[in-house]
Formats: sequence, structure tokens, C-alpha cells
Amino acid sequence: MNKELLLKNLRNIPDFPIPGIQFKDVTSLFKKPECLKELDDALYELYKDCGITKVVGIESRGFVLGAALALRLNAGFVPIRKPGKLPAETISESYSKEYGTDTIEIHKDSIDENDVVLIHDDLLATGGTMLAAYNLVKKLNPKKVMINFLIELEDLKGREIFPEEADVKSLLFVEGA
Ligand code: AMP
Repeated sequence: MNKELLLKNLRNIPDFPIPGIQFKDVTSLFKKPECLKELDDALYELYKDCGITKVVGIESRGFVLGAALALRLNAGFVPIRKPGKLPAETISESYSKEYGTDTIEIHKDSIDENDVVLIHDDLLATGGTMLAAYNLVKKLNPKKVMINFLIELEDLKGREIFPEEADVKSLLFVEGA
């Protein structure tokens, strides 16, 4: 993987969406074909031999390469969405954020006990969103659940909230502050 190319093209937006946040804008990578291909190839190399049957993407930046990876792995793609967006029967998980709480949902019939699942999102900050997604997917009793991010804000130590068995992997490591 060409890390230099990816890091060079990753746009940082200071003080977005609130003062003090250094926002890593992954759309600056998605819009460049050479960066999109680097990310897609790197994900495929990382997960091609893991027996994954479902890739779960977290709304909305997790949909882009989550769906692309699912296609390459010959796996299904499953969205995790904000409340009220999925049309069939769902299960949900609530979690606390810096201000207030948030809820995410998944279709109840999207995963079963024969599935090996990879949950994918663009970026690991505190890990709160992904931990809720992990707990949500676990409720559906798949054989195994793994976790992937494109970018990890290493200094925030978000990975420490996940159990060892979640096998958290990221492609790029950057400073969050
Ligand atoms: P967290 O639950 O703190 O790990 O972050 C939740 C979501 O917010 C991630 O999926 C990211 O899409 C987004 N996010 C949080 N912090 C940043 C940041 N510094 N730059 C870009 N996206 C962020």
C-alpha cells in the first residue's frame, strides 16, 4: 500500500464540526481514483483469506469501501443506519456520545449464526460508534465479528475499548490532535 500517496492526499479540516476537532476528510481520498484503488486493494489483501461472508458498513462513510470490499470478497453487504431509515424489522443499540446519546439500527434478518462478519468504517476516534455497532452485530450471533477502519487516530487510543477477539485492523495511523 502506498501510504505516502494516501497521507499526502488526506485533507485535514481544523475546527470541524466544532472547535478543537481536526477533521480527517476521507472524501479527499475517495475522489481520487488512484487513492480509491490503493484503499480497495489494501482492504482486499488484508481480508481475502478470512472467510468473510458479510461486510457491515456504518452510515455513511462506511458504505463506500464496505460495499466495494463485499463485492471483491464475494460477500454480502449490510448497512448500519441511523434510526428510522431501514424499512424492515430492525434491532437497535444506543450509546453515549460527548453530548447526549445516539442510536444505530440493523435489519434483524441481515446476519445469522453462519456468518463471518467484518464491520467497516472510515475512521476510529473514540471508538464509541464502532463499539455500539459491534454490540449490535453480536446480538445476531454470527460465528465471528472483526473490525476495520481506513484511518485510526492513534493517540486517542480508541482501540483499547474493543475485546481482543474483535481483531481491530486499520490501514492508516495518524495523529488526532
Ligand atoms: P468515534 O465514535 O469517536 O470513534 O467517531 C465516530 C465517527 O465520527 C467516525 O465514524 C468518524 O466518521 C467520525 N469522526 C470522529 N472524529 C473524526 C475526525 N477527527 N475526523 C473525521 N471523522 C471523525
